[in-house]
Amino acid sequence: MMRKKIIAGNWKMNKTPSEAVALINELKPLVANEDVDVVFCVPAISIVPAMEAAKGSNINIGAENMYFEESGAYTGEIAPNMLTDVGVKYVIIGHSERREYFAETDATVNKKVLKAFEHGITPIICCGETLEQREQGVAVDFIRQQIKIAFLNVTADQAKEAVIAYEPIWAIGTGKTATSDQAEEICAAIRECIAEVYDDATAAAIRIQYGGSMNAGNAAELLAKPDIDGGLVGGASLKAEFGKIVNYNK
Ligand code: PGA
Repeated sequence: MMRKKIIAGNWKMNKTPSEAVALINELKPLVANEDVDVVFCVPAISIVPAMEAAKGSNINIGAENMYFEESGAYTGEIAPNMLTDVGVKYVIIGHSERREYFAETDATVNKKVLKAFEHGITPIICCGETLEQREQGVAVDFIRQQIKIAFLNVTADQAKEAVIAYEPIWAIGTGKTATSDQAEEICAAIRECIAEVYDDATAAAIRIQYGGSMNAGNAAELLAKPDIDGGLVGGASLKAEFGKIVNYNK
């Protein structure tokens, strides 16, 4: 099965709405590559202006987070239908920064994943181990648990549409990329876990990204690995360099 690569920028808490528009206008001509699904996940306040700026291009605008309730007394949160109302099709769920600073757990990740599917939004589900877990040799066990809980009550048909982002925490924003072999080993283990939970067809369809200091210099080697179907890119998605990552195969 040929899985289409998906390369997503994760802007995190960067760029004001007007800066977001300027950056999209700058990157628009640089990220045209029909072999790849291109997503820019931007701060909620910039989603609408970013969509306007991205019109007519291959850029999909995604969200960095959403809540798992439909509406109500949840001050500061963004509901799924607020995202779909403006045309959002992708949302990052359970990024390690949200787990660390905003108390997200595997259980809340699962609730958000289910809600995203209910609303037809593709979740980009993040997982990944700490350096300590890697050194203790428990990375695969830990990630298998994150994946199994994230996918509780998700149907096979939904899982086929999901995107998983494997992001070793020690590689995020540190300039320390996992080697392509290290990244492939875990991405393959994630696919095996999906095959156990569902079946081989689901495992063959689901797309698994690598994230953590991906850049123009290492993207091609990472993306050549059989189980790495894309990237979730932080720092390098805020620069012209992102165009080189998206065009890794040119
Ligand atoms: P980075 O971030 O590319 O800056 O390491 C990746 C991420 O956190 O999604």
